[in-house]
Order: sequence, then structure tokens, then C-alpha cells
Amino acid sequence: MTNSEREVFVKALETFGPQKQMEKLLEEMAELAVEIGHYLDGRPDYTGIATEIADVGILLDQMVLLFQCGGRVQVERLQKVRKLAESLEAKDV
Ligand SMILES: [Mg+2]
Repeated sequence: MTNSEREVFVKALETFGPQKQMEKLLEEMAELAVEIGHYLDGRPDYTGIATEIADVGILLDQMVLLFQCGGRVQVERLQKVRKLAESLEAKDV
């Protein structure tokens, strides 16, 4: 996230509180799940998908700030992407 995004997200956490933002994350993940469901049903709404991915991303960034876990997330991500790459290589796809 950019520095200006971080400022906004910190302010959102301070203004609405962690509980509300965690509830908002659950709500946005549900909305994304609905959009993905519509896509899988053959009723894609690409704008809707992009909107909900953005919404979830914004809340996930706030969770990183809330739980102060940016470094750990980065490590986890690197490990998981490496494992995925190895898995794909092993399948020779
Ligand atoms: Mg939404």
C-alpha cells in the first residue's frame, strides 16, 4: 500500500474501530463470493468482480495495519508462492 493509502486506512481504523472494520471485511468477502458465484454460474459482471476485489483488498490492508503483520504476511506470501511454483513445476504444466 502507498503511504497515502496507509494514512487513510489508519484513520478509518481509528474512526470506525477495529470491530467495525473486521465486520466490513466479512461483508466485502461475502460480496466478492457472490460475484465469483455469478461468474461461475455464467453471469459474469467484470466491473462487480473488480469492485469487490478492490473492496476486499482495502480491508485486507487495514487488517495488516491492525494486526501489525505486514512483514509476516510478506514472508508467508513468498513461501506460499514458492511452494506453488514448485508444485506447478512438479506437475510439469
Ligand atoms: Mg463491496
